[in-house]
Amino acid sequence: MLKGIGVSAGIGLAPAVVLAVSELVIPTAKPADLEAEKTAFWAAHAKVLSDTHALAEKTAAEIGPDEAAVFEAHAMLLEDPTLTDPIVQAIESGENAAKATQDAFDALISMFESMDDEYMAARAADMRDLKERLLRALLHAEAQDISHLAGPAILVAHDLTPSDTAVMDKAHVVGILTEIGGRTAHSAIMARALGLPAVVGCAGVLEAVKNGVMLGIDGATGEVFVAPDETTLSGLNDKLAKYQQEKALLDQFRSAESVTADGHRTLIAANIGTPQDAEGAAQVGADAVGLFRSEFLYMDRGTLPAEEEQAEAYAAAAKALPGKPIIIRTLDIGGDKKLPALPLPEEENPFLGYRAIRLCLGQKDLFKTQLRALLRAAHEYDLRIMFPMISSLEELRAAKAVLEECKAELKAEGLPCRTDVPVGIMIEIPAAALNADALAKECDFFSIGTNDLIQYTTAVDRGNERVSHLYTPFHPSVLRLIRMTIEAAHRAGIFCGMCGEAASDTRLIPLLLGMGLDEFSMSAGALLAARRLIRSLSYEECKTIVEPALSLPTATEVQAYLAGLPLCK
Ligand code: PEP
Ligand code: MG
Repeated sequence: MLKGIGVSAGIGLAPAVVLAVSELVIPTAKPADLEAEKTAFWAAHAKVLSDTHALAEKTAAEIGPDEAAVFEAHAMLLEDPTLTDPIVQAIESGENAAKATQDAFDALISMFESMDDEYMAARAADMRDLKERLLRALLHAEAQDISHLAGPAILVAHDLTPSDTAVMDKAHVVGILTEIGGRTAHSAIMARALGLPAVVGCAGVLEAVKNGVMLGIDGATGEVFVAPDETTLSGLNDKLAKYQQEKALLDQFRSAESVTADGHRTLIAANIGTPQDAEGAAQVGADAVGLFRSEFLYMDRGTLPAEEEQAEAYAAAAKALPGKPIIIRTLDIGGDKKLPALPLPEEENPFLGYRAIRLCLGQKDLFKTQLRALLRAAHEYDLRIMFPMISSLEELRAAKAVLEECKAELKAEGLPCRTDVPVGIMIEIPAAALNADALAKECDFFSIGTNDLIQYTTAVDRGNERVSHLYTPFHPSVLRLIRMTIEAAHRAGIFCGMCGEAASDTRLIPLLLGMGLDEFSMSAGALLAARRLIRSLSYEECKTIVEPALSLPTATEVQAYLAGLPLCK
């Protein structure tokens, strides 16, 4: 068995179709006719540019506009003189077009790869994709055709490029397996958008897997079985059947109400990153969007999204869930999230640094563009605005003051907007949880961000594997902060939700329900299991477990106590 990173859950069981590693041979000879060489380069460039536009259209139609955005970014890059000028100059000084193209791309790729950042490293994959396509066009070497496959297949590649995913035969591909890549790689994002099981970062897979060999992949665990024997195969078939059965069982909860067995109403909402995700949320019957991570609109592109474009994206998300409230979090950038369009100096402690609301209050124009877009989109839809990483009342007041400025400007410009949009904050910093009474008096709702709250309460980096054993939502201090936050919200008569991963943790849901949490917001994939559990619970009974759970001194004991309760089974 091989092991990679499971990035899109599900079982894929089918013969492998291995994408050949590039066999391009780059000539080294110096050309005699430099003008002819330049013409050849521009002809290949024009072909790839027009193919890229076609890929964008195809992807927009088959997958969605957000997934298509990557090809729009490719087109922009192709037309960028910082890429083409060095190529033309190299040809003018005597290099052949293919070698000049290869050198220019390699310089860019190594620059992106040298950035010690998973997101930027993933962008190097975009460059390799473009480089390969330009070189193939230049050398008239056609790529392997995966747009028509003879039967079910698991695509195996060193790295699946965005254009591979766009053209692949979606009727037959039942899984994706790549040698490199991480959770934010495009192949991972596309696989999740298509609901295809996927394992990435599986070292040695190209040596171990030959075309046509039977493959089994588990997109949840990252396990890869090459030519599985009969026992493994029957185990995988069982898993696949169970997966499909569980999915069918959960499907029954799509239109069920989010209400406990004794009639207590909650909201089970979705976390989304793009308007396209809102459609996925609608498919599973989400009651609301509890968190729209708006920073995704700013990623994967060289320029910042303008007011109109943002307003359209927010409206598109709301349209997918008619009549449902959509909480949009303002830009949460910094820390582990970077924007190519907004380069910022490296920091010693990025998680404690210039990020989220701090950055927005420092870059007021950027913030105002987003707030204006939100106010305009809210004119027609039930949008709510949420500020991330609030640590003090001063910050909340400063953010609200900028919002008021935007309202006044829009009014003066005669542009329709909604002036009474509910404004809430993320509670994800212990300082905010401890001061929740004061904050609750000046906003309309809270949403607890446990991903950061755990990291800041326990001083455990949420992304560092070496300390991940210390990262737990069961820590008594974290649970106390959660309870304090919910109680403070309710004392002030406001609503308290949760949009961190803990909200979908079925081991914790009974306790959170007992604490009075009003809304559980999570990825669409987790929503139906949470609804099934909530419908089976008694709210009155859940209330009785809060005191005993919070009186325990260790995370291990809390976890064991909850696991031992008959209601959590
Ligand atoms: C959180 O911190 O819990 C949260 C939902 O925000 P993010 O994961 O985007 O930091
Ligand atoms: Mg957070």
